[in-house]
Amino acid sequence: MSPSPVFATFESFSGARIRRLPVEAFPNLWANLYLVQSGDVLALIDSGSGSDKSNEDLQRGFETAGFQFSDLTHILLTHGHIDHYGGLSFLRERTQAQIGLHELDWQTISHHEARLAVMSHRLDDFLASAGVPSERRAELLNMYRFTKALYRSVPVDFTYEACDMEVSPFKLVHVPGHCPGHVALKLDDLVFCGDLVLEHITPHQSPEELTPFMGVRHYLDSLSILERWADGARLVLNGHDEPITDLPARITDTRQHLSRRVDQTLAAASEPRTLAEITEQVYGAMGGYNALLVIEKIGAYVEYLYQRGLLEIINFDELENGKGPVPIRYRRVDGIESSFAPSRSLTGVHQGQSSGQRPDLSEVNS
Ligand SMILES: [Zn+2]
Ligand SMILES: [Zn+2]
Repeated sequence: MSPSPVFATFESFSGARIRRLPVEAFPNLWANLYLVQSGDVLALIDSGSGSDKSNEDLQRGFETAGFQFSDLTHILLTHGHIDHYGGLSFLRERTQAQIGLHELDWQTISHHEARLAVMSHRLDDFLASAGVPSERRAELLNMYRFTKALYRSVPVDFTYEACDMEVSPFKLVHVPGHCPGHVALKLDDLVFCGDLVLEHITPHQSPEELTPFMGVRHYLDSLSILERWADGARLVLNGHDEPITDLPARITDTRQHLSRRVDQTLAAASEPRTLAEITEQVYGAMGGYNALLVIEKIGAYVEYLYQRGLLEIINFDELENGKGPVPIRYRRVDGIESSFAPSRSLTGVHQGQSSGQRPDLSEVNS
């Protein structure tokens, strides 16, 4: 990923003009916002994080593009992650634009404080089950709350379902997994895919146990949906790095990377281990916010492996009878050496091929 992406312009085949406005959402994390001008519509796709730097970059981007916030007709969110919606509080005071999102992210954006409280509890339970000691849990939860505390709830004007996934001039598709209400938007031969696929990064994963419509299964299904839906797109403009020109190839790479991580997770469970121990095996010791991100990722991979019968829980007696939080211990099922070959099994197995049977590993690994 380029450390400092630049303002850029694109044009769709019918002549819609798109300006890419990069903002530094958090230190060293750049996010791309897109200002789309088509007929009477001036839509901003995503809003940055709402940090001072993000808002300043956004302001400068509008000046470079020759617009004011009050010119906006729409603000359309690709998904409910803070680096994409956090700027709404800043923008709401400066524009009458209609704010739209997918209804599965509505609570996150419009009832942020309540959701943050609920999520903090859920995350604490998850970390306890993962075997993270209570002092460390408190540190991780503080970090989690800190990054979200910038934002205050903003009312939303409409949801995409309410307008049949069409907001002129865009067509939309729901692609959950990375985030529950994640959508992609299409305009002529351009697709805006948020964080579903990035040019240089494999997007973050988090278990469905924490939030419905997240998790590896939804994510993999969404990659397939996007690949079909975006067929013929000339450029895929994403939330963090350079435009994707060969989407099928990028999706294949992403599946392969994910598959390697899932395989490493399975190998780390050759001995009975908690999620925290598996995380340390796969990623080593991690500091700062990354510590939380990697344990969420491993949580998503373990959940996926467990759902497919490749991992088993070995301390269920202790879980049944223990007092207080008992960390869950997972172990690779006997005879399983590797989870699956990259793209093929990752696309196929959970879409009906498996039905309770273990995949034919000799075949998928050939
Ligand atoms: Zn995201
Ligand atoms: Zn993002």
